[in-house]
Amino acid sequence: MSDGPRDRIEVRPGLDMVSGYHSPQLDVDVRLNTNESPEPPPASFLAELAQAARDLEPHRYPDRRAERLRRAIGAHHGLAPEQVALGNGSNEVLQAVCLAYGGTQRTAVTFEPTYAMHAHIARVCGTAVVELERGPGFLIEAELAAARLAEVAPHITFLCSPNNPTGVVEPAATIDAVIDAAPGLVVVDEAYGQFAPWSATQLLDEDRPLVVTRTFSKTWAMAGLRLGYLLGPSWLVAELDRVLLPYHIDSLKQAAGLVALDHVEEMEVRVARIAEERGRIASALSDLDVDVVPSGSNFVLFRPRPVDGRVVWERLVERGVLVRDCSGWPRLDGYLRVTVGTPSEGDRFLAAIEDALAAG
Ligand SMILES: *Cc1c(COP(=O)(O)O)cnc(C)c1O
Repeated sequence: MSDGPRDRIEVRPGLDMVSGYHSPQLDVDVRLNTNESPEPPPASFLAELAQAARDLEPHRYPDRRAERLRRAIGAHHGLAPEQVALGNGSNEVLQAVCLAYGGTQRTAVTFEPTYAMHAHIARVCGTAVVELERGPGFLIEAELAAARLAEVAPHITFLCSPNNPTGVVEPAATIDAVIDAAPGLVVVDEAYGQFAPWSATQLLDEDRPLVVTRTFSKTWAMAGLRLGYLLGPSWLVAELDRVLLPYHIDSLKQAAGLVALDHVEEMEVRVARIAEERGRIASALSDLDVDVVPSGSNFVLFRPRPVDGRVVWERLVERGVLVRDCSGWPRLDGYLRVTVGTPSEGDRFLAAIEDALAAG
């Protein structure tokens, strides 16, 4: 008999295809699985944020347009506040893009393998997703991509540079070619932008249907505070107001973003330190029996050659080290992804992987 509410109350059609986002949060010593910053923001950041918190008026709604923060972010990129849209993490900005420009009867394109949330968010918003393939070295092949984009004619094309989970940085010529070929909006997710040698923010133009998303979660060491943003043409930013909830960026978060932007130099030093450590990890890995994908990000994708990736992942967990298990993902058979942590976490990881590979 089926008479409980569970049998009658069903999610809307389309959502049955979609499952939630899961990254295991295991309790181990060394957590190198979600690409967070290994270091907190500087102590002065927290002290200044605490001071700013004392001056807040929690009984009042926040500045709905977050004018000061959008102005500060814009200035950081040499853009106007009208070219900045904010979100509770960049995932929320991506959701706003899909709510405004995707939806039923509309199509989004991804180049796989890439950040799973692009397809996920698009689908949750009712958008059909067409997954296109990458070429050798996980790079997008510009000519092939142009031909497929002309065929599919997507409303939204997602790019990710550096790409998660591969770490690959797309050359400017590829992004240009995609913008030229895609009839709709092109989104370049630059969650790891500061780790890369160049940024698509250079290509932004009021007359180009291009937006770039950024986040405070990774390079800014603020994953717990949930702040992200989009840079794009002001007319497009204005349209996003149709779908963003009123007052969605709370007062404390607005203050946190402003305080963070007073610490650009420390952020850049931290990013440089992580990039250096990335070089050390990648080169140590390539001395082992492992394929390493060149990374322009704060993580390294690799594939153990002698032992199955899943088995290596389990052995790493047994040794107190958690990395991301991509080994079961389509197109990533046997691959694991390690976030670049502190040098001592790096040492722990390298010792553990050497051990895990030696175990045969
Ligand atoms: C981590 C990550 C994000 C960030 O999401 P937030 O919601 O800003 O924490 C976005 N895109 C990619 C590719 C990521 O890896």
